[in-house]
Amino acid sequence: MNQVALITGASRGIGRGIALELATAGWDLVINYAGNRAAAEGTAKRCVELAGEAGHTIRAEICQANVGQAEDRDRLIEFTREQLGRLDLLVNNAGITSIGRTDILEATEENWDALMAINLKGPFFLSQQAGRWMLEQREADNSRRGKIVNISSISAHTVSTNRGDYCVAKAGLGMVTKLFAARLADLGINVYEVCPGVIASDMTAPVQAKYDKLIDEGLTPIRRWGEPSDVGKAVLALAQDAFPFTTGEVINVDGGFTIRRI
Ligand code: NAP
Repeated sequence: MNQVALITGASRGIGRGIALELATAGWDLVINYAGNRAAAEGTAKRCVELAGEAGHTIRAEICQANVGQAEDRDRLIEFTREQLGRLDLLVNNAGITSIGRTDILEATEENWDALMAINLKGPFFLSQQAGRWMLEQREADNSRRGKIVNISSISAHTVSTNRGDYCVAKAGLGMVTKLFAARLADLGINVYEVCPGVIASDMTAPVQAKYDKLIDEGLTPIRRWGEPSDVGKAVLALAQDAFPFTTGEVINVDGGFTIRRI
């Protein structure tokens, strides 16, 4: 029986990149999306194709749900139970950028609340639900080892004064990672935080020219844009239990951005 991963925001961008890597390794998937059904269907189709080329038969099911809404999160977990019957990996990837990218002196509470619901509250309560389910699975079979991976950002530790809410949410996600890592370790469940740097996706498309220039000028020692597959490969390694004695830890996928240089 294949292992099952639930990936939020997997219709496009980084979530899609994660889905393609897991599919190629033979994982069954729930591909969550917010509104772009056609993109989710495209990702599911490509997942099944890539798995087939690698000699695996997998299922890739799509499920619309807004991770910022409690009833949608419940429905997403229920869908996963009904369709695939088990959960081995939750990837909290869905996220939005700061609405309007407004200077923190102008930022509004309304935009703050909207972003926090999706980028921070959603991952916390989905981790809670996944943790409860993985506990049930562990009680039924002591060899089961679930995992949770949170897709954070270099913005968890790097300031952008026009994206304050985004930075705060990502910093908070670091604490979510540590909290669930500490709580779930006795159940054999490891929890990780992956911090991508500048990754080519629809989210970064509006600021492409800015980052082209910065990368060209040496923003990162590895002088290129990151790709969704770069993040996907890191998540796959975590999913495959490549770090069994490591939990609550950050994996940077940022081209060396965090190295301080003079
Ligand atoms: P993206 O290209 O904008 O894709 C966002 C994905 O999330 C889409 O699949 C979208 O679904 C889904 N989504 C958005 N709001 C949602 C909601 N409320 N509920 C469920 N799904 C939702 O973004 P990305 O660049 O791949 O970013 C993915 C994650 O990586 C985010 O958490 C982001 O903060 C993080 N990140 C990105 C970068 C970067 O440089 N791109 C760097 C560091 C971290 P639809 O297709 O249905 O709209």
